[in-house]
Formats: sequence, C-alpha cells, structure tokens
Amino acid sequence: MRKESREYNYDWNLWTIVENASRAYDGFEKEYQHLLSLIPNFRGVLEAFVRHGEPGILFLKLLASYTRNCIQAYAEGRKIAASTFCFAAPILYAFDVQPLILEPWSVFGTVILQRGTGEFMDYCCELGFTETSCSSQRGALGAYLAGLGVDIDFIICDSPGICDTNANSFSFASAYLDIPFFQLNFPPTLTDERARRYHRQDFHSLIEFLEKQTGKKLDLSRLSQIIEHVKRQDELAIELMELQRLIPCPMPPIYDLFLYSGRFLMSGTSEYSELLEAMLAVTRKNSRLGIAGTTSTREKARGLFCYIDHYTTDVRFWDWLDSHEISHMGSILYNFWQADNPQAHSKEEQGYCIDDHSLEGMIDSLADQVSRMPMVKSIRGPYDAPGMWLDDTLGAASLLKTDFVVYIGTMGCRNTWGMVKPFTRDLERYGIPCLVLYADAFDDRIQSWEAITDRMDEFMKLRRIGAH
Ligand code: SF4
Repeated sequence: MRKESREYNYDWNLWTIVENASRAYDGFEKEYQHLLSLIPNFRGVLEAFVRHGEPGILFLKLLASYTRNCIQAYAEGRKIAASTFCFAAPILYAFDVQPLILEPWSVFGTVILQRGTGEFMDYCCELGFTETSCSSQRGALGAYLAGLGVDIDFIICDSPGICDTNANSFSFASAYLDIPFFQLNFPPTLTDERARRYHRQDFHSLIEFLEKQTGKKLDLSRLSQIIEHVKRQDELAIELMELQRLIPCPMPPIYDLFLYSGRFLMSGTSEYSELLEAMLAVTRKNSRLGIAGTTSTREKARGLFCYIDHYTTDVRFWDWLDSHEISHMGSILYNFWQADNPQAHSKEEQGYCIDDHSLEGMIDSLADQVSRMPMVKSIRGPYDAPGMWLDDTLGAASLLKTDFVVYIGTMGCRNTWGMVKPFTRDLERYGIPCLVLYADAFDDRIQSWEAITDRMDEFMKLRRIGAH
C-alpha cells in the first residue's frame, strides 16, 4: 500500500469530507458557488447530491451523521459491530451498538475518492483473500485490516449459504483481528414454518450474543422507539414504490441510492425518516404534475437493475440515467419485502410484517426482516425456484413496466455469475431485453466507466429502447 494511503485513517478521511460536504449548502448560494471553485476534486460528487435539493442535502447530512457516529463511538462509550448490508441495523441501535456496515463504506470510498479503494482491496489479497472475493467488503475491509480505521469490537455476519465470499470476508476479519464473531444462518427456503422457526431461534441466539458483548439487556422502550420509526419508514418506502409504478415515473433516479443507503445505515433513526419524507414530497409533487423525476422531466425508458448499481466516482451511474431520461425502477437492494409493498401483492407470505405489541413480537419481526434483506431473500436457493431471483425480477419487471433489465455485479459474485446466463435467457424469453455487464460495481479497474457507458449506449441503440 502506498505511503500516502496510510497517511490518514480511511474512515476518518471520508468522515471529514462528508461532514464538510453536508454543511456546504448551509450558507448562501454565492458562498456555495465560490466553494465549488476551491474543491476541484470533490465538486463533482458534491454537486451530484446538492443539485437534488432538500433530499440530496438531507442524504449528505445522514451520511455525515452516520460516519460521525462511527468515528465517535469509542469516545462515547459505544461498542462497534462490523456487519454487512444484508443485516438490519435496528437491533444494533437497540443495544446502542454502532453498526459499521462494510459495503456502504466501500461505496463511499469508490464514489467520493478519485483514487477509489483499489489499494485496500489489494491489501486484503496480500493478507490471503482471493482476488475473486467480493470487492464490496474488500474496499473498506482492507483499511480496517491495515489498522486504518476505528477499532471494531465484534462482527456479525448473516450471509453464509447465500454468499460464501461475504461470509468468508467476515470470518477472516474476525480471525485476523482476533475479535468475537456471530453468524446468522439461513435455510434454503423462506416461507415454510420450519424456516421461519429457524430464523427466529437463530435471531434469539444473536440477542444473547449482543447481551454478552455489551453487558446489557435489550431495552424495551428503546426498541419500541426504533420499531416505531421502522414502521413509519416502511410506510414511506411503500408509497414511493407505489408512485414508481406511474408512467412517467415521478421518482428521480438517484432516490434509489438514497433509499437503500439510508436503510442499510440508519434504519430506525429519525434522520432516515426525515430523508424519506423529503423524497416522498418531491415524488408526490411530480406525480401531481404528471412529470418524470428526471431533470428534463421526461421519461424515455424504464430500467430495472436486477442486481446492484454501479458506484463509480461522482455517482456518474445515476447521472447517466438522468441525462438519458431513464427512470430507475430499482435494484435487488431497493426492495426490502414488506408484506404490504406492491411487489409482494399476492405473495404476502414472502414479506414481513412488524408486530409492535410485545417484546417477543418485535424480536420476531426483526428476525423476519433480516431474513428478507436484499440478496438474503432472493438468492438463497435455486434462481428459478418460487420467490427467488427470477420470480422476483419478473414480478418487478411486470409491475413496474420496465423496458429493459441490466445486470451489474462484482467479479467475486459466484452466487450470480453461476446463473446469470440462464437467468437472462429466461427473462429474454418473456420479451425483456437484458444486458449483462462484465464490470465490477466497486472497482473501475475491471472495466472503466467509459467502457460501461459505451456498452449501455450500444445496447439501448441496438434494442431500440426509448427510440419511440
Ligand atoms: S455482490 Fe455477490 S459476492 Fe458480493 S455480497 Fe452480494 S451476493 Fe455476495
């Protein structure tokens, strides 16, 4: 690793940037414009958020709050738990434990830093990771393994079986850093009584682990407050999903990123509720006016990203969609499977409900929620089994009237590479144009952003998408 990359802690470095970015628009417009001329390396990413008005600024404030909480946890006497985006953070907040979610930290580095996170990914390989392990953990994990971040107290992993590379990253980190490790398990089925019982018992073991690590019992009143926010956030997210069905789609493309990032990092907090309220206000207004959420207010096409998005510098992925007048109809990271959400209509048993009447009810609801997190829900069994990847993608494509589907993943994702060809062939049989990109969402060295846009432009042209 280069000496310069060791100069500052990775998380501290990103926090200072995000903290300043979140305040950049607090003054006058003239001050903001002047500031842009002084930050050539960061003006692209700052403008990419600020130009979306209140929701963009609230998103920056949410990121600042989250990163600050991570940096200050130790000084405030809170434990830090490293975990994955597949895990629902509310239970950690209920124990006053700070979640350090690795994949979003990798996204921050890739989106904000011109140099990306390649050196940290490679550092993991120097320590023993394979180069084909998922880049979404390695981007940030390399920094923590190199001692360039806050001290992690323990690790919670919840993707074995669903994703070996994710699970191995966390168990490697636990062994290397010599810290406690808890692993939630998932049976290959989701909706039968045996799987439900298993999820819930496993989640109770997690609570015992958290009690042991923190020396505290689960605080009922704190959990109730968090669950109240989760319920409200579910209602807001569901309304957004309903509005997305309109043609043109009134939701700006980048709200997809806002929705799932906020959920991964700060589900159950007031900051996330405020962000969703602001996003919904804009989307409702656009729907009343009958306009699309793109900057031009027009919609040429509706794209579904059947897996993940691309996190190249300055959020250029969402800018590309916006400038091509393409509405983002969500990715696998966007749907959290509330039983009331439109994609769960007529398959409510695949969704979760929140029962806030008792402690047991709340714990079971969180267990059900975790077992339906992105990827954990749809990629746990054969791709074409009921309620799995193909079924969920076809359901979304039909409900949202999408014009095309794009697969973007990571080089390490054996889970999806093993089935992406038959999967996309099946989608094509249903008349849905599909593009498979051989890119890595976190690592521009695999395929440059320019090469990706060439391929997407070519695909749109050849398949005559948005030509009418
Ligand atoms: S992108 Fe693939 S390899 Fe990475 S965590 Fe998700 S399922 Fe696992």
